Amino acid sequence: MVSSCIFCRIVAREIPAKIVLETELAMAFEDIHPQAPVHCLVIPKSHIESLRDATSSDAPLLGEILDLARRVAEAKGASAGGYRILSNIGTDGGQEVPHLHFHVLGGRRLGAKLVRDDR
Ligand code: 5GP
Ligand code: ZN
Repeated sequence: MVSSCIFCRIVAREIPAKIVLETELAMAFEDIHPQAPVHCLVIPKSHIESLRDATSSDAPLLGEILDLARRVAEAKGASAGGYRILSNIGTDGGQEVPHLHFHVLGGRRLGAKLVRDDR
């Protein structure tokens, strides 16, 4: 737990979030500024800054996160139509919150660029 990290604080229930699903190691919640009808974030409960900071030993955790992302898309009704999973990494990747997260976007036909291409 990194007390200055907004997503660690959501995991600790110090900051409210609309939690969709969770497992022992991962949590999924609604993005506060949705860019599509379905826009959830799937994160590890432990603090890893980004995919760049994961190691081979995180493989089971990453598998659990991707499986949870798949279940989130199903639970939100975005699965049949198709959806997008993406993770921004570091400054050039456009990452704003330095706690690993995967965006799950769907519920409409998505454009070529999401999330953001403006900085
Ligand atoms: P990034 O640009 O780092 O890939 O995406 C960060 C995402 O986190 C953004 O889509 C933003 O809307 C979302 N976000 C930032 N702060 C909060 C928050 O306090 N609660 C929730 N639910 N989402 C947040
Ligand atoms: Zn964190």
